[in-house]
Amino acid sequence: MTAFGIDLGSTNSCIAYVDDTGHPVVARNAIGRETTPSVVYFEKPGSVVVGGAARNSALLAPHLVAERIKREMGREDVAFTYHGEARTPETISAFILRELAQSAGRQTGEPVRDVVITVPAYFGVREREATRKAGRIAGLNVLDVLDEPIAAALSYQSRRPSGGVRHVLVYDLGGGTFDTTVIRLEGDDIRAVCTGGDLRLGGADWDERVVRYMLEAFTRQCPGLDPTADEQFMHDLAIGAEVVKMELSSALAWTRHLRFGGATAEVEMTRATLEELTADLLERTLDITEKTVGEARRRKVETIDEVILVGGMTKMPVVRERLRERLGLEARRHEPELAVAKGAALFALVRQASREPGGGPEEIADRLGISASEAAVMTRRSVTTVVPRGFGVRVADQNDPLFATDPGRARTYVIHLLPANTPLPADSGAVSFATSIDNQPMAEVEVWEQKEGTSSDEVSDNACVARGRLRLPPRLPALSRLDVSFAVDETGRLTVHAEEPMSGNELDLELQIGGMDEAAVSAARTAVARHDVSS
Ligand code: ADP
Ligand code: MG
Repeated sequence: MTAFGIDLGSTNSCIAYVDDTGHPVVARNAIGRETTPSVVYFEKPGSVVVGGAARNSALLAPHLVAERIKREMGREDVAFTYHGEARTPETISAFILRELAQSAGRQTGEPVRDVVITVPAYFGVREREATRKAGRIAGLNVLDVLDEPIAAALSYQSRRPSGGVRHVLVYDLGGGTFDTTVIRLEGDDIRAVCTGGDLRLGGADWDERVVRYMLEAFTRQCPGLDPTADEQFMHDLAIGAEVVKMELSSALAWTRHLRFGGATAEVEMTRATLEELTADLLERTLDITEKTVGEARRRKVETIDEVILVGGMTKMPVVRERLRERLGLEARRHEPELAVAKGAALFALVRQASREPGGGPEEIADRLGISASEAAVMTRRSVTTVVPRGFGVRVADQNDPLFATDPGRARTYVIHLLPANTPLPADSGAVSFATSIDNQPMAEVEVWEQKEGTSSDEVSDNACVARGRLRLPPRLPALSRLDVSFAVDETGRLTVHAEEPMSGNELDLELQIGGMDEAAVSAARTAVARHDVSS
């Protein structure tokens, strides 16, 4: 049974598999495209449309169209209602996954079951869990979720196997997000060293600048006309702006006609103008890249051997130019829109082989017609990722004067037992804390996850993701020792262990993340399966 790799993007998605010759191939969708817009149109009860056609419906029926749902993954407080039915981000994503699976199934002639789905490196445990759920709701068997930059590096490395230690920087600028990751490659061992990014910086910001420019040009040519209240005009303008931006990656100038109220304006934009109008956006990606490279340097990475450009936006020539000019980084573009899905397909093959009884190097060698030793290299390949965000516990500040008199009201802050970028599997080992008052009956153990961005011990910069109570023995004096340890396995599952050493009382927490329990997942799966999904 073929295993598939899926790049579930916020703008575009892509599915790939490894063919009989051992090469990753992208499965085209129903209209022959390699990528499918991640847009879902709830056309009528019981039938949804996914992809380009769904995106075109956004104007006619915006209230029935879900776009950029990836940004909401892992949020439990949102649901979207279409035809009177509430849909979670997981369920909406499941429709996209089903459409991709259908296309791939048509192309390979066998149903899609085993998949690896990629996620951004900065996704927290909750978002990863939501992604797995989306896969299960779509009726798929999710072998694993894999970091997008690792997938890109895998697909890149599969074409250039080489010895020694090498460091690769993945620069991924997509439709709505930017992230950059330094990856260490050594033979079969692939691990992320550090990662950084901005969740609110991507192609859409460039499009917005182009829209503004074109509107200004229109008003200059047709003074007295204000088309901004016209939905149809603004919709066409938005679509047109993205086209102009994309065309300017190959052309030096592009012209569009804008028609409104009987008037027509001819707007020309040059590549130089586009670059000038968006320079600050690009520089922001370079600031983050510079910081990430600096962080890698602190982790003893002396040279970046290779820079891989991923994401549709890296087709803009200026990205490479500025990486070279400002950071001295020589980048190569490696199938910016397909690399992630292809890498995931390679990883899926390896994962599948390692899980199936009797599956192993020989079976892979047979299937791919490669030598047993080549296959052994593939199945041995291990991928190490990092803790995407810091995890810790909330404690009372013993330096706060209130701590002595009224510890319940003292300032609290978060201590990260596992800082962001700790390689997986990660284990903090036992860290000692103290009780606050005499005869404390129990200790409240709260698990806090750092919010996106930089690490901070302020409670407001972290989110409580789980809590439990550790029973304490009678007559325990204040400031008695309590031990807490945090561990995250390769799949991102967090286990927390707390212990009172005198009594041996223990508390174990397995992070239960995401709002849907198993029953809800299976109900959603049934509901999704009943829908007619088309593109
Ligand atoms: P995501 O990973 O967010 O799903 P993609 O990697 O598919 O997104 O990138 C989508 C973005 O890339 C969009 O903003 C799109 O306009 C932009 N894009 C696609 N092709 C080009 C191009 N030739 N030149 C510039 N931008 C492009
Ligand atoms: Mg992407």
